[in-house]
Amino acid sequence: MVILKGKGIGESVSFGTLLINKKNFDNIPKYFHESFDLEKSRLEKALDSAIKENADMYKKTLEISGEKEAEIFEVHGMMIKDKDYRLSILNIIQNEKYNCEYAVYKASKKFHEMFLNLDDEYMRSRAADVKDICLNILKYLTDEIDGKKEEPKIDSKVIVFSDDLMPSEVSNADKNLISGYILSGGSECSHASILARLSNIPMVLGIGEHIKPEYDGMDVAIDSGEGKVYISPDTDTVKMLKRKEKQYVKKHESLNSLKGKENITLDGYKINIYANINNDFQIDEVLNSDAGGIGLFRSEFLYLNRDTYPTEEEQFETYKKIAEKMGGNKVIIRTLDIGSDKSADYFEFPEEINPAMGYRGVRVCLDRPEILITQLRAIYRASNYGNISIMFPMIISETEVKTLKAMAAKVREDLKKENIPFSEDVEIGIMVETPAAALISDILASEVDFFSIGTNDLTQYTLAIDRQNSKVNQFFDSHHKSILRMIKLIVDNAHKHGIWAGICGEMSSDESLTEVFLAMGVDELSMPSSSILKIRKKVLETDVGKIKNKIFKKFFK
Ligand code: PEP
Ligand code: MG
Repeated sequence: MVILKGKGIGESVSFGTLLINKKNFDNIPKYFHESFDLEKSRLEKALDSAIKENADMYKKTLEISGEKEAEIFEVHGMMIKDKDYRLSILNIIQNEKYNCEYAVYKASKKFHEMFLNLDDEYMRSRAADVKDICLNILKYLTDEIDGKKEEPKIDSKVIVFSDDLMPSEVSNADKNLISGYILSGGSECSHASILARLSNIPMVLGIGEHIKPEYDGMDVAIDSGEGKVYISPDTDTVKMLKRKEKQYVKKHESLNSLKGKENITLDGYKINIYANINNDFQIDEVLNSDAGGIGLFRSEFLYLNRDTYPTEEEQFETYKKIAEKMGGNKVIIRTLDIGSDKSADYFEFPEEINPAMGYRGVRVCLDRPEILITQLRAIYRASNYGNISIMFPMIISETEVKTLKAMAAKVREDLKKENIPFSEDVEIGIMVETPAAALISDILASEVDFFSIGTNDLTQYTLAIDRQNSKVNQFFDSHHKSILRMIKLIVDNAHKHGIWAGICGEMSSDESLTEVFLAMGVDELSMPSSSILKIRKKVLETDVGKIKNKIFKKFFK
């Protein structure tokens, strides 16, 4: 028996025969063409066919599985039709004189790498989609590569091993035949993973190159909760995994049964559990998770991967869509937190030696107010369609907050003059994510309606440990007493001034800290949708009165 460890999607166990389905770009024809026009027309035809196939997949998935799953093919459609992508292929055909297949491969490789190098996990996972659409286009150009090769035959339940997975493969998968996936690469936020999660097909990602060709056809088991793959499991392991399977089913049923329940402790403390999102695609996941609202919309993602600033109208449409979909539930839009690890060329940022401490967040917006004013106009206009709040990132001073509030007031005044409707009830809050803001939180509390504690940056700046640097990852300790003490200080100062305080950094979904946050009186926790029910369970099981003293002794005495 061989045991391999990767990252699991979902919590379940499955058994099957291993089917190695390696996809690669090894056989792509590469030659210099003789006619640009001929290659161009081949490209147009292949693109048209791929667009049509994709539209059919969208329709089929919409009918069978619903809007959420179908959205993936909407994204693919947009990618295939993308002008820059098409232009990039044509440039290779025209300037480098390569044939159409090779130009599609080369341009896709460039886009694939570009996505892979992005810091945001969601955007990084779009790299798999580029590979997916590339294979689809190539399918129409050549018989040589995977697209038109015969699909591997499946006659009993199999667990498929592949480098990466296309959403269309998961969507088309017959669950009676395929009981799981193992990927050498992959990402948790990829569309394929989202689909696997929604379809309850267990998956283990990031297994690397450890699956050997001789494993093909062997018995295999996956424990996606542990992220483990068992090649040729022995009898005792099979028994253990069967027990585990039953436990997962029970746990899943009991978590789903918590939907619709209040987040209330045994002794009556209530807490709001909200979701974090980076874009509007994630709303269905939020609704499905039974989150009470959106506690952090990282709006800078609207500004990334494009060549120009998003217009007021574009932003308005996105904010409106989110607000409407969330009904009357809270949607906290964090204003542009660009800079540091998140950047786009058109901002023309200067080179910086230490960007995490540099030109970022509200510093950019205060320096280039027109960017923030456009965003604030869009947010206020959208506030007419739901329950929107505004949150400013990277605050360090009272003056910053006052200036930002004055800008918001000016935007409201202008909209009034222009007879453009907006809600008068938009709350204004700040992220407390610098030690400076934490230490003056008593002063800042009298300026705003709420605090949301950004524990990712707060940990980075308090411990002086770069959150991007894997070399010091082992020292990045969010449980450090200094962080917990700061959180308590911020929450106490918020409450003294009659405002609420939440946490939207990664710590919010750390089950081992839920009791601590409840004991501190944290009012809201905002986290990835997938963690909502797990944390609700923890809240429902907690008796704050019983644990409070023990916790305070541990961290604060
Ligand atoms: C944080 O810093 O904790 C936070 C939520 O913001 P981001 O991770 O986007 O910097
Ligand atoms: Mg932050």
